[in-house]
Amino acid sequence: MSFRLYNTLTRSVEPFAPADGETVRMYTCGPTVYDPAHVGNFRTFLFNDLMRRALRLQGWKVVQVQNLTDVDDKIITRAAATGKTIIEVTEPITEIFHKDRRYLRIEDAEVYPKATTHIPEMVALVQTLLDKGVAYTAEDGSVYFGIDRFPAYGRLSRLDTREIRSGARVAQDDYSKENAQDFALWKAAKPEDEAASAAWDAPFGRGRPGWHLECSAMAMKYLGETLDIHGGGIDLVFPHHEDEIAQSEAATGKVFSRFWCHGEFLQIDGTKMSKRLGNITTVKDLRERGISAAALRHFVYSTHYRKQMNLSGEGLEASLEAVRRVGELAHRLETARGGTPELAVAAREGEAAFRAALSDDLNAPEAVAALFGFLQRANAELDRKGGDQEALAEARRVFLLMDGVLDISPRVTRVLVGPDTVEPALAAFTDLDEAERSGFAWGVERLQARLAARKARDFAAADAIRAEVEGRGFVVKDMPLGTQLERWR
Ligand code: AMP
Ligand code: ZN
Repeated sequence: MSFRLYNTLTRSVEPFAPADGETVRMYTCGPTVYDPAHVGNFRTFLFNDLMRRALRLQGWKVVQVQNLTDVDDKIITRAAATGKTIIEVTEPITEIFHKDRRYLRIEDAEVYPKATTHIPEMVALVQTLLDKGVAYTAEDGSVYFGIDRFPAYGRLSRLDTREIRSGARVAQDDYSKENAQDFALWKAAKPEDEAASAAWDAPFGRGRPGWHLECSAMAMKYLGETLDIHGGGIDLVFPHHEDEIAQSEAATGKVFSRFWCHGEFLQIDGTKMSKRLGNITTVKDLRERGISAAALRHFVYSTHYRKQMNLSGEGLEASLEAVRRVGELAHRLETARGGTPELAVAAREGEAAFRAALSDDLNAPEAVAALFGFLQRANAELDRKGGDQEALAEARRVFLLMDGVLDISPRVTRVLVGPDTVEPALAAFTDLDEAERSGFAWGVERLQARLAARKARDFAAADAIRAEVEGRGFVVKDMPLGTQLERWR
């Protein structure tokens, strides 16, 4: 069966293959780095991650470019408010983005270009558009794109031509469909821009790039004039992607991207999660609540990317439990001595269902269901303690294949707590962040208090401490040599 994707351009699910038959050239819009990304943003980045892993499962190579927007209206406003330059605002936030992304096991894109290090490419693109007569310099010294000079304007977002107000101009980066106007490619430098080191020289005047321009210039630099896939969240369809198409296609005369793929919103209490509404949850918040990367991935992939979903505590709890079962299966497959012939059948059928689900417009919920269907059958077969080595190898292969795409098996961090301090041992957990390490240190201290309570035969106090530690998301196990403190991620 062919691999199919929904294309926003045609509003239909179409067969997809890379143009050259080998390598998928994919551009995904990245974060604007003025505040840490929230889990709504990460829903979109997890959708991109699923896409790249599913494309590879098809046997294609993937080159993904994800930009970091490090100059735009919001960043300059933030810089002005804090007396910083834009780089001082964006550098620490970029670091947090990568840290959060790695925590969520989102694979590295091949390139993470920053807007501010690609100014010459953007200047060249503006110059081309001026030379072709589709762009013009206005009285304010800024360069605008004349949307009436590009007949296909509005095709992606199905903009009714009656809504297009050519000649009217909009300078800000983001605006509504009702306000489709000529948009700024290059904004004449203002004192705030100069103060924040956000102005560059150009033949058409000193200024800074508009948000849309950045993606066109960097996508074409790294991926060529026609991309296979361009992705982002659904809110980017208009104006961002509409404007990217206009700039790129007016400059090259070629189709800018063959497929446009958009992920739906993560909501909270039925409203879009957004910085503007102040209803955000960050990855840091989740980590502090003991929600593992595996659980969040499972939670996000349990809804199709084109459906809205609501972030809920119960949903995350259910995902924590679900991925615990995945972790148990991983452990059983690792330690089993053999399988039954039926285990191999379950593996092969599971693989077929899994591949079919992903080929059907990245149906992750079906793919998750295929994994859990396999999990149930595999557990039953492993209970029978067969000796078939090939069947076991087949089951291990299929499990790794599935988990290689979904990446939802939890990882465990354990510390054995004895009466002596184990604080130095915690230093070995380099993948823990500071809050997690201090959480462990707290857990160790509490378990030592519990050991003391037990020694004093105060079992009520010991039980209360155990409940307190478990209440913070730890697993507590009594072992012959001490008490084990575990956290699943
Ligand atoms: P931004 O940093 O605002 O440029 O957003 C980065 C990415 O997150 C874009 O692809 C947005 O479309 C996407 N995004 C923003 N809010 C949400 C949300 N609540 N749910 C899913 N994706 C979102
Ligand atoms: Zn973009």
